[in-house]
Amino acid sequence: MPEINGSELIDLAGLRKSLAADDPEGRLASLEMLGVKISDDAHLQLASAVSDALSYAGKPARAKIVILADKSSIMRRGERLSELVHKQLQEQHDVRSVVLDDGHTTLHADESVLDMATIATNDADLVVTIGSGTMTDVGKVATHRRNNIPHIVVQTAASVDGFTDNVSVVLRNGVKRTIPSRWPTIVLADIVTIGEAPSELNTSGFGEAISLFTAPADWYLANLVGLDHTFHVASMNLLKYAAAEPPTWSNGIAEGGAVATQQLTRLLALRGIVSGVSNTTACLSGVEHVISHMLDLHHSANHAPIGLHGAQVGVASLVASRLWRHAIDTDLIDPRSLRKPDMDVMQKRVDNAFHDLGSDGAIAAECWRDCQKKLSLVFENWSRFESVVGSWQEHSVEFKKMVQPSATLRSALSASGGPATFAALKPSVSPEFARWATANCHLMRNRFNLVDLLDMMGLWTDDMIDWALKDVSAL
Ligand SMILES: [Zn+2]
Repeated sequence: MPEINGSELIDLAGLRKSLAADDPEGRLASLEMLGVKISDDAHLQLASAVSDALSYAGKPARAKIVILADKSSIMRRGERLSELVHKQLQEQHDVRSVVLDDGHTTLHADESVLDMATIATNDADLVVTIGSGTMTDVGKVATHRRNNIPHIVVQTAASVDGFTDNVSVVLRNGVKRTIPSRWPTIVLADIVTIGEAPSELNTSGFGEAISLFTAPADWYLANLVGLDHTFHVASMNLLKYAAAEPPTWSNGIAEGGAVATQQLTRLLALRGIVSGVSNTTACLSGVEHVISHMLDLHHSANHAPIGLHGAQVGVASLVASRLWRHAIDTDLIDPRSLRKPDMDVMQKRVDNAFHDLGSDGAIAAECWRDCQKKLSLVFENWSRFESVVGSWQEHSVEFKKMVQPSATLRSALSASGGPATFAALKPSVSPEFARWATANCHLMRNRFNLVDLLDMMGLWTDDMIDWALKDVSAL
């Protein structure tokens, strides 16, 4: 396996090699980044990154460069990062800086901003974006629309894993959607700048990161029972490799500690790469993600502010790992308890869970549409369910490689300085609300996960839900 922890560079060549070894048919997307540099002076590598990217794209050495940023003035040790960036390029190139401002406190990646960025990069040979996830996503879309001209990302927070993938999260009619865009050409992650980012961005990034230690098991399970066709053994091998070591390095993330920030940035970069080559987020989105989506759904139906995605995912990962390790380490899964779900009963449960959200029943109807699709696939694949549950102990050996114990993840999350309970999230989530989100999380979407299986075995009881939430409900 390639080196991930030891050097300043993510070993992209090594990653390509190990992915290719497990992908003889070439089903994975190719990893089209030239470099990912994570160090305490990565921002100073811009001039050489630009010249590498230009020569790779066959463009002249002197180029028209547009630097895109939002109006937040990001500082690095008291100096303005945008000036540090601009200064490195101004003698060699024709450089223009553009500030994207849509009037919101933080930039929204909606159609008007994407258009603004596309127009701003009209005559550019190369684009540099300075910023966190949204700015990067906007830059990826704009440069994709400009015939994939080289795009260099100066990463300023370790908030999401989208710096190193080939999709963008954008707003369509106010709803977040993930759309295909492109890989950035080169990512420069300066850990001093990242360490100075607002602490809730980086702790939220850590919350997102720890779903690495739960979600792959859901992906693997969905594939075993025949409900997921995005699964690829090459991606899984990489995820298992990354998840083999518990994240013991998180102390100091909230304070911007160098080691913790660097490790976090690396882990997020690797996550982005794996989901990018896999053409799916399913490999890193399981029980913990649907619980977070349930919180979002509830907040937005009640016109409440939406919480930080990664922070929610982090807390919900503790629930997911507790359930998973229970299913792995004990004889909880007894093949004799497996029962086919009843469509009418399930429809009533979906309605009960969601009819209070919104005024017109549209949310309950949409959830049922998704859930119904999943149930139809469950019926079609019933013999696989019987076989997987019948040989659960064998599969558990594999699952165990993918899931760290909840206590391990909880101490890592606490050490990071991020919220480790639902009550500590912003906005705060009451025990009743957390219980609703967890109890009904499998009724919302068409992806299959462990909670679906527990429910089909009569194990998704009030007692089990309370047990799963024991350490995360209170303050
Ligand atoms: Zn996520």
